[in-house]
Amino acid sequence: MADIAFLGLGVMGAPMAGHLLDAGHRVAVWNRTLAKAAPFGARGARLAESPADAARGSEAVFLCVGDTPDVEAVLFGEAGVAHGLETNALVVDHSTISPAGEAGFADKIRRLGGRFLDAPVTGGQKGAIAGTLSFMVGGEEADLERAKPFLLAMGKKVFHAGPVGFGQKLKLVNQLVCAVHLVAMSEALTFAKAQGLDLKQTRELLISGAAGSWALDVYGEKVLNDDYAPGFFLKWQAKDIRIAMDAAGELGLALPGLELSHERLQAALARGLGDEGSHAVYKLYS
Ligand code: NAP
Repeated sequence: MADIAFLGLGVMGAPMAGHLLDAGHRVAVWNRTLAKAAPFGARGARLAESPADAARGSEAVFLCVGDTPDVEAVLFGEAGVAHGLETNALVVDHSTISPAGEAGFADKIRRLGGRFLDAPVTGGQKGAIAGTLSFMVGGEEADLERAKPFLLAMGKKVFHAGPVGFGQKLKLVNQLVCAVHLVAMSEALTFAKAQGLDLKQTRELLISGAAGSWALDVYGEKVLNDDYAPGFFLKWQAKDIRIAMDAAGELGLALPGLELSHERLQAALARGLGDEGSHAVYKLYS
């Protein structure tokens, strides 16, 4: 069993760190809001005072925070991972951030004597709790082999997409599909309601055939139950689509579906829905 660290105990990070503890590893945990780390003490985790403190003595450091500047702060800020990184320690970032940002962070970590993988996840809060996440990994094969036992304690499938940054590129493709489906789910239920159709029956019919999607299945049910609690904050979905828009722009690629979902998510943010679940996009139509 290994000495490792997990930084960022939010919706995703908390269950992921829990699986590493359950697998028997000695885990140092840290969260910016310290109160969220406290329950991990009772489960045998070491409660670290800072990312640097968590990294000290750890052969691998996993993190799952928010956006690109948040990863930068945790890795290289005051008392960041860089100040406690052990030689040859492996840093694995599970946040969804910009591919270019990730490549820059990997360079800095390597210059400090460490190794780096980007490994964003899909499967949602449900998958994080159940330990069924899929990982999209960017980095060197040898580093991935080191990470695999840990990844497979937190999830089921590992996809090696290419060098550092490619995990994020694959994740952006994934997020494009999620966001377009989110808009499709919102418009389908709006259209059905306006025509006087029964929404429960409509959702059941749609997920039984070619129109089915994870969004209609999971988010559709939440919309019908008027449950907008965040399993995936709308602000994070908007962040992912902003990053995807930047990447498509750099490629000179016209993707009207992506642009529509970006517009819808920005409108939802402007309506103050950022701290609700991403399916609160539906509220734009009601
Ligand atoms: P969350 O519940 O909002 O958790 C975010 C975590 O990051 C919290 O622990 C937060 O600390 C920490 N954090 C944010 N900014 C920070 C900073 N500047 N310095 C230090 N810590 C910081 O979000 P989440 O749903 O777990 O998502 C985390 C990442 O995974 C995001 O990149 C998201 O896009 C991605 N993701 C989420 C899902 C999902 O379904 N939820 C699925 C796949 C990928 P505090 O507790 O102090 O706020």
